[in-house]
Amino acid sequence: MAKTFRVRPLSRAQIRRLVLEILADIQPGALQKPQPSDVERLFDVYIPRNFRIQTGYVGYDEIPAEAVGVTKAIERKSYVARELLEAEKWHEQRFFRSTVAHESGHCCLRHPFQIEHFVSVLGRKESLLFRVEETRLRPFENPEWQAWAFAQEFLMPFPTLTILLQQEVNVYELADIYEVNPAFVRSRLRSLKKF
Ligand SMILES: [Zn+2]
Repeated sequence: MAKTFRVRPLSRAQIRRLVLEILADIQPGALQKPQPSDVERLFDVYIPRNFRIQTGYVGYDEIPAEAVGVTKAIERKSYVARELLEAEKWHEQRFFRSTVAHESGHCCLRHPFQIEHFVSVLGRKESLLFRVEETRLRPFENPEWQAWAFAQEFLMPFPTLTILLQQEVNVYELADIYEVNPAFVRSRLRSLKKF
């Protein structure tokens, strides 16, 4: 079982504000019109440029078994399984986007800088269910909860999502608009308590 670290508490509203600032910088259109968020630009360009963290993609043989993403403070590195980057099936491509957004969350929320030996390994199953391991931590101080909140806010930005919800767009339509899996949409809607 992975070790969990306690990080500086952040509320959903604080995480949302940070995400909106990042989107205003790298993809302002995503705040105006519903569209897929450019998660590769965030991970490949924005993070290395703005934080002292190297990001990239590595093969399954170089990461722990069953893992799809890793962020490590000691190496100042964050990486995602290359097999997902190269996936051809649409649901794997969408799974890739949520995995990258999650690891980006650890970087942008500065978890590797808060804890010297911070390490987070995202398992495939955990990632499919968007679940945070049970710990004694409160959600707001749990880095995994924070990274999922970041991913939700980044991939389905609040300003355009609220417009779509007024139009009663369904889960599958939302999944296609934002290029995420329906399970991700459901968890995002739960975060708004609308589902
Ligand atoms: Zn994580």
